[in-house]
Amino acid sequence: MIDPFGRHISYLRVSVTDRCDFRCVYCMAEDMTFLPKAEVLSLEELERLCTAFVRRGVKKLRLTGGEPLVRKNVMSLFRGLGRHLDSGALEELTLTTNGSQLAKYAQELADIGVRRVNVSMDTLDPDKFRQLTRWGDLDQVMRGLDAAQRAGLAIKINAVALRGVNDGEFEEMIRWSHGRGMDLVLIEVMPMGEIGDAARLDQYLPLSLARTEIARHFTLTETDYRTGGPARYFRVEETGGRLGFITPLTHNFCESCNRVRLTCTGTLYMCLGQEDAADLRAPLRASESDEVLDRAITEAIARKPKGHDFIIDRRHSGPAVPRHMSVTGG
Ligand code: SAM
Ligand code: SF4
Repeated sequence: MIDPFGRHISYLRVSVTDRCDFRCVYCMAEDMTFLPKAEVLSLEELERLCTAFVRRGVKKLRLTGGEPLVRKNVMSLFRGLGRHLDSGALEELTLTTNGSQLAKYAQELADIGVRRVNVSMDTLDPDKFRQLTRWGDLDQVMRGLDAAQRAGLAIKINAVALRGVNDGEFEEMIRWSHGRGMDLVLIEVMPMGEIGDAARLDQYLPLSLARTEIARHFTLTETDYRTGGPARYFRVEETGGRLGFITPLTHNFCESCNRVRLTCTGTLYMCLGQEDAADLRAPLRASESDEVLDRAITEAIARKPKGHDFIIDRRHSGPAVPRHMSVTGG
């Protein structure tokens, strides 16, 4: 699949549920309303959709959410998709998780062929963690990380940089994650979805500032390491570990975008920061053969926009797109 700007689309991210067992302050309002179950695709339908994309050349699949591991029976979807790893059609099957259920599932994921997981963790302080996630328990996530490492999974920690919350912790987080052999990626908060009274402008911390602060403690050497994603990676000389920065607001990364995003209702978003979307549920359900679906996928890819235009400043503090990150999974 090649889009109008010559970009090869080889990466599909799938939000398998919009539900979550946490309520992170920058992601959701505490009283979120979730999709009625009837609107959500069955696991079999999700598998069929993902399989259609794999047939069309997708090499990397990431399951996300909401929290992917709270969807009932989600392991059957992982197992089904794992078959494409065995056949060689798919190169990587992975997930982004808050880690709360990893202790339970890490070994099974590894057995299916998952090699790496992204775990979101914004602070190492249990009280702050509870405040930030509203419902989360840091100890439980730590047990999940232990289990994942025992199972041989490589871990990347994703931390959203939040002004006045974790901006004093970057040094400790670098030492901790690199000390455990994990990569760390810092992410700028993106203006997505109404989140209640927490104001975006107050949360927003440009990563250029974070980097200056980090450079007071460490020597950062630019690397050309890429994972096909928007992160720019540095080697931290003192720890030997990798530190990534995802900066949608201060640095636009759209020119190398190779991905599209599917929601749990079968809506395909061609760009995280734009509203245009294609419904794949109707074509999926229209017939048992994939012909109609294939046509809908081709039409959608032909509409992939050049890029997003996220902006947070005093004049633009509302969401740039009304949907929450948990719909498209980040
Ligand atoms: N629940 C899983 C988790 O937290 O990893 C997967 C879904 S979550 C929506 C995916 C990632 O998006 C997490 O790393 C989270 O921190 C990030 N995220 C959520 N809302 C965001 C926002 N407004 N700006 C930047 N990142 C956000
Ligand atoms: Fe849930 Fe992930 Fe959003 Fe936090 S960031 S509320 S864990 S979906």
